[in-house]
Amino acid sequence: MCSRKETLSPPKIASDPNGVNGYQIILGEIRTMSNVFRNIPSVNELLDSPPLRTLVERVNRNVVVSGVRDFLDNLRSEVPTSASDIPLPTARELAERIAQWILYEERPSLRPVINATGILLHTGLGLAPLAPQAIDAMVSVSRDYASVEMDLTTGRRSHRVEAVSRLLCKLTGSESAAVVNNNAGATLITLAALAAGKEVIVSRGQLVEIGGSYRLPEVMEVSGARLREVGTTNRTCIEDYRQAIGPETAALMRVHTSNYVVQGFTEETPLAEIVALGKKHQLPVIDDIGSGALWDYSQYGVGPEPSPVASIHTGADVALMSGDKLLGGPQCGIILGREELIDRITRHPLARALRVDKVTLAALAATLRIYQDPDQLEQRLPLVSLLATPLANLQNRAERLATQLQAAAAIETAQAVQDSTFLGGGALPAQKVDTWCVALAPARTSVDTLATKLRSGPHALCGRVQNDRLMLDLRTVFPRQDADVVRAILALDPDGNDSLDTPTSHDQSDS
Ligand SMILES: *Cc1c(COP(=O)(O)O)cnc(C)c1O
Repeated sequence: MCSRKETLSPPKIASDPNGVNGYQIILGEIRTMSNVFRNIPSVNELLDSPPLRTLVERVNRNVVVSGVRDFLDNLRSEVPTSASDIPLPTARELAERIAQWILYEERPSLRPVINATGILLHTGLGLAPLAPQAIDAMVSVSRDYASVEMDLTTGRRSHRVEAVSRLLCKLTGSESAAVVNNNAGATLITLAALAAGKEVIVSRGQLVEIGGSYRLPEVMEVSGARLREVGTTNRTCIEDYRQAIGPETAALMRVHTSNYVVQGFTEETPLAEIVALGKKHQLPVIDDIGSGALWDYSQYGVGPEPSPVASIHTGADVALMSGDKLLGGPQCGIILGREELIDRITRHPLARALRVDKVTLAALAATLRIYQDPDQLEQRLPLVSLLATPLANLQNRAERLATQLQAAAAIETAQAVQDSTFLGGGALPAQKVDTWCVALAPARTSVDTLATKLRSGPHALCGRVQNDRLMLDLRTVFPRQDADVVRAILALDPDGNDSLDTPTSHDQSDS
């Protein structure tokens, strides 16, 4: 409710030139009726009117009552006392507008989006959509009690990640496995458990910053381990690691530079050499592989990404990866490696702070099971389905959509164009993918206004602005969403004066 007061205050309204929140329209008209201001209907009268009565059934009474009060309070404080000749809207009209406004304000801020940005793993849009099997698994363990920490055959207490660990070991060849909140957490707990108070040797070329405040040196500091940088930004050889080893060394660490490339006069020490050095000095080698692909993505024209199978096979003692990047699962961090080390990690006090819930475990297990049957992957894992869609299919859809969208009043031209996109925004910006888009030129507004309207509209359609066009990239749009794309654009007002958004089907299921 506080946000409602804020959004109604005059400066906010003035600073909303697109009228995205729609108050301009409401207040613009109401301002002019201040002469009859004292005749504004009472809260009860308004609540009795059909639009708000219906809304009480859809949302709930408390929300509607306090919404009406807030609206009227703001109205009274904002409408100037000077007189005007414009007639007061009827109670019903006013109620209609208040109802629209309450619905707008009650929309969940976290809601489904049509991703037409073309970025397959878009951090801002929640990375990969989950497989139907993963969603089903999440629903069923959420609805009922679940065998989170109970072995159902013995009735005894078991470890919550045991079943998932077994799957992970089977798929990667690892001896043991653990799951935590995310890869940042996996790195933190691994360093804290294996190297607190001691040194970890890392190449200067691998001190990564991943978007959203993840910086390896900072995570290392929080873990209590000391960073021992070796080599240079562009070149680090095994000799650099060897010379840094001393009595304070607790581990050697390699980090995949997942969001940048160093080109030119470069040298990265191969994992195999680091592993051999670690063995010689009895130091564990920690390999942060980042995305961690369990699937060969190079068949879709994407460059190779480190595989946990290769990392474990090469002899990394601990391998760390995200569950929600190229694995296409829920947000989590996966820790693979030698049993003795994984045990030390899972016994660390941070394990409780970083543990995942039953819903994540269910989704991860279901996602991993899909990998057991690779023939099914393109069909069942949405991330892979999107990547595997043949260009000709995307071209067909782009051409069909362009024809339909050409008829929209808000659109000047709609053209199917071939383009390229990226696997990830923050995470994998160097990985290009071919695609087809519909390039839209707005009829009477700027391209930015068009983009804002569609993003904040009922279908939350996100495209990318490029060369003064709004590109709708079909690489990341599911075919089932094409009809909504058309609907969203046909519904636009050509001048950008759209009033309050009408609620979407998602909103309804949410209430
Ligand atoms: C993405 C990434 C992380 C952070 O992983 P989250 O699961 O997002 O916490 C850490 N290291 C590397 C190399 C990464 O690519």
